[in-house]
Amino acid sequence: MTDASTDVLIVGAGPTGLTLALDLARRGAAVRIVDKSPAHPRTSRAKGPNPRSLEILADLGVVDEVLAAGSAPLPMRVYRDHRPVAETDPWADAAPTPATRFDRPWLIAQWRLEEILRARLAGHGVRVELGREVVGLEEEADGHHVDVTFADGRAERARYVVGCDGAHSPVRKLLGITFDGTTAEDQVMVSGDVELDHEDLGRDRWHQWFDADGAVMLCPIPGTRTGWWFQAGPERDADGRPLAPTLDGFRRLLTQHTGLPGRHLTRAELLSTYRVNVRMADRYRVGRVLLAGDAAHVHAIAGGLGMNTGIQDAFNLGWKLGQVLTGQADAGLLDTYEEERLPVAAWTLDLTSDRLRATLEAIREPGGNLSSAMTPETAGLGIGYRWSSLAGTEAGTEAGKAPDAPATGPHPGDRAPDAPCRDAATGERTHLYGTFAGPHTTVLGFGPASAAVLREVAATYGEGPGVRACRVYAADEDHGTAEPGSLIDDQGHAAAAYGFGAGGSGLVVIRPDHHVGIVAPAGDPGSVREYLRRLHGAPGMVDAVR
Ligand SMILES: Cc1cc2nc3c(=O)[nH]c(=O)nc-3n(C[C@H](O)[C@H](O)[C@H](O)COP(=O)(O)OP(=O)(O)OC[C@H]3O[C@@H](n4cnc5c(N)ncnc54)[C@H](O)[C@@H]3O)c2cc1C
Repeated sequence: MTDASTDVLIVGAGPTGLTLALDLARRGAAVRIVDKSPAHPRTSRAKGPNPRSLEILADLGVVDEVLAAGSAPLPMRVYRDHRPVAETDPWADAAPTPATRFDRPWLIAQWRLEEILRARLAGHGVRVELGREVVGLEEEADGHHVDVTFADGRAERARYVVGCDGAHSPVRKLLGITFDGTTAEDQVMVSGDVELDHEDLGRDRWHQWFDADGAVMLCPIPGTRTGWWFQAGPERDADGRPLAPTLDGFRRLLTQHTGLPGRHLTRAELLSTYRVNVRMADRYRVGRVLLAGDAAHVHAIAGGLGMNTGIQDAFNLGWKLGQVLTGQADAGLLDTYEEERLPVAAWTLDLTSDRLRATLEAIREPGGNLSSAMTPETAGLGIGYRWSSLAGTEAGTEAGKAPDAPATGPHPGDRAPDAPCRDAATGERTHLYGTFAGPHTTVLGFGPASAAVLREVAATYGEGPGVRACRVYAADEDHGTAEPGSLIDDQGHAAAAYGFGAGGSGLVVIRPDHHVGIVAPAGDPGSVREYLRRLHGAPGMVDAVR
């Protein structure tokens, strides 16, 4: 076997693997992505990205397509014993805020989202290699490569392997990583993609029927005329054991719980029995092999966080692998992936179990519905990594803030808030996340006192893709000599969001995944220098080490 020309081999082309592949490909990494399936899936599964995932998809350049291909989440129509009893819209009060463009999750079939990600990936020359099942992994004794064996007997070598291979993850098993937790045998749901030719069932609602014996939920699949997500309590045998889902079984469930004639259900696929599994890996990395997505954690679907947590894992890992592969950061940076994401998985398991309990409780009452599954937390915007070793300042307090950092505003580790601004050169409306978008780290400078540090950052890291310096001018500041890419905080939202207030000054380093690295006083070039050196190495190191 020759030396590896593959930087990262991704096992599994679900949403997690595709997000990671896209992030790595745009960084110029030699990435390959394999999947054991002989064909791309056409099944709907997860209902769509939450606001935090939408921010990530925006960074990856695909959000407009996702928004166009999907729909806003639908209001719910609730029925009891076949009769409509309530209408509810969990997003009725949602409204954009300066801190994020996305105020609600988006409804899109998982296969369609995957198709969009694959198309963008193909633009980087990377295609999913289908029919390629990984069956063996071995890290080379030299510690520089992993040898990967496929079911067809072929073998390949890669510098890193990431198992994005789903809940049953062969990669996880090959690494001997445990997947502890519980499976609730009594909490069973059947689901599938169905076709309904019933014209009277409005496609502007998520219909939810409940009665003493069970439930059926039908949510229209955007982009189709007759396709619906079907979820129901299962049929059971005489001993109360759940029966496997079938087309005829779905028809019977439809008739029994909705009163609609079963013959209107003309097709069903992805017939699947779902049991609530609450499990997570106890490690995310063994040497050069890492886990992400369902391979690392599974939980109740209440809150719709399965796919989202995987997308967010991938976005945390992508830039770290990118920095290590180019030699800008040492391999220790990869340890912060588990350090940051494993506690998020544990929190997600708790949150979704809690939401499931709340939902089961709610639907016992007439009018109760699935809206209890959603809380502000399920938007994902509050997830941060204050405990991370990447969230410290040299003078960090327990909460990670330097004593002279602003009292309000995000802490190191928090998701960086967005804010509407104007481009200083063109006057056009833009926003901070427009500046963050891309594979780079951003240094934001507020107030005239930040200018010297920003100039130093720009001179040190130059025009390269690694670090971008961005001066944020207050509305009343003279920006006549603004560098290209500078922003005008014309409504004061950026200064307020970062805690600098009117006329305040300071520096904020934003990681490529939109989390705050450090917040420093404007006259403190040392901590900015040191932080950037940790992520980007000494200038000139780029591509020096593989
Ligand atoms: C019926 C159903 C309904 C669902 N509904 C929801 C929902 O409403 N909301 C929600 O949030 N989530 C839902 N989910 C879960 C959601 O689909 C997953 O959380 C999401 O797909 C996880 O993405 P992933 O990329 O981590 O893994 P997956 O999407 O599972 O992708 C893993 C990939 O790895 C491949 N693979 C496995 N082993 C190997 C191997 N040895 N070699 C190569 N490739 C391999 C598989 O073929 C697969 O393509 C549902 C899932 C199912 C099945």
